[in-house]
Amino acid sequence: LSTRRPAAVLPGRGASTGRVVGKPWGQKRYDYLIVGAGFAGSVLAERLAADGKQHVLLIDKRHHIGGNAYDCHNADGLLIHRYGPHILHTNSDNVVSYLSRFTDWRPYEHRVLASVDGMLVPMPINLTTLARLYGRPFSPDEAEQFFAMHAEPVDPVLTSEDIVVSKIGRQLYEKFFRGYTRKQWGLDPSQLDSAVAARVPARTSLDDRYFTDAFQKMPAEGYTRMFERMLDHPNITLALGVDFRDARRGASFESLIYTGPIDEYFGYRHGRLPYRSLRFEHRTLRQPWLQTVGVVNYPAEAVPYTRVTEYKHLTGQRHPHTAITYEYPSDIGDPYYPIPRPENAALYRRYQALADEETGVRFVGRLATYRYYNMDQVVAQALATYASIARGDTPAAPA
Ligand code: FAD
Ligand code: UDP
Repeated sequence: LSTRRPAAVLPGRGASTGRVVGKPWGQKRYDYLIVGAGFAGSVLAERLAADGKQHVLLIDKRHHIGGNAYDCHNADGLLIHRYGPHILHTNSDNVVSYLSRFTDWRPYEHRVLASVDGMLVPMPINLTTLARLYGRPFSPDEAEQFFAMHAEPVDPVLTSEDIVVSKIGRQLYEKFFRGYTRKQWGLDPSQLDSAVAARVPARTSLDDRYFTDAFQKMPAEGYTRMFERMLDHPNITLALGVDFRDARRGASFESLIYTGPIDEYFGYRHGRLPYRSLRFEHRTLRQPWLQTVGVVNYPAEAVPYTRVTEYKHLTGQRHPHTAITYEYPSDIGDPYYPIPRPENAALYRRYQALADEETGVRFVGRLATYRYYNMDQVVAQALATYASIARGDTPAAPA
């Protein structure tokens, strides 16, 4: 990557793509209205336009494509992720081969350090983490024994506290998980599904990569450029800065694909589904580097942010300065995270029942299906939805 800024962060190459102001839908009748130009909406727009020869109106209330994966050059020419660090990792060949049509890749294996006991130690916890914390080397067997000795029996394992304490014990739980989780979610780990903390299991190896998936790469020119290529098709009309409320009234379309929050779609009929938000503080430092790795986590509750990202590690960009982002969790703001816990799942199921009754509409993506999905899972879900459309299934059929 060079330090130059791209000519535009909006698509404008295709005959009918690009930001359209006023009433972008005009007199035309579309086969599909797609709400949301993140991974879910963009994959479906691309598939329907390319294979299905369908005419698609793709809208987003934001003024850019890419959803939360959007990246852009800041005022200093540094490529940043506006909505926090996005690292693509997957075991799905299908997802890789699909996305590879729209981007080249740069190898990147994500590494994270956690600030604990005045030290920066690898996270997920591994042999090096234990050695640094306890001041002596650990073999894989010794680490296994250490975890077993400290683990507390928990049956059944339901919560994020349960899963960590039952595997590695309370001391490491308190150092690495309790404070981080309480900040990130505004809830104690005992109030969250085990799946949340299970995303970062401790290891008895020296592997210090954050993810272990077979494929770990970043789009060579960034996510936005990849999305631009996906949406560069004459059958896709893109309208940015347009809310579904307006398009629903003004646009003429046969079918609808909705990737926004499902409770909003139904006018919060059963009450609000909780989502967790973040406030991002983006900064440029007049120095080449801040950290030795892409992300440093701060589990201590006394520190108001959860993690600090330094993008040059992720993007490979060469630049005399460095761009970083602090993440401050918040209840207020855009809905970034569905909150995995039983009462929320139960409320979601009530909305899902409404969705099943809604003819001509498909609900896809992290917000519309209220799932704590990574990007690859959303791409897979969108491809499965397209396959179901191509088969001629009715919209209510699960993707
Ligand atoms: P979104 O990207 O949220 O797109 C939905 C779009 O719909 C938005 O652009 C929104 O503006 C639009 N919209 C909503 N309502 C309306 C409306 N009424 N009218 C018009 N438009 C509307 N995943 C990974 O795989 N790796 C990572 O490292 C990673 N890091 C993450 C870090 C953070 C801080 C966050 C929040 C998420 C991260 N993710 C990561 C998850 C990733 O962002 C999601 O899986 C993915 O972006 C979801 O795509 P989506 O299309 O479902 O939703
Ligand atoms: N987590 C933690 N300490 C850490 C890293 C993660 O307690 O240092 C917990 C926390 O609850 C977090 C969850 O594990 O929300 C999942 O972490 P991940 O890094 O996957 O979160 P994301 O990137 O989705 O924000």
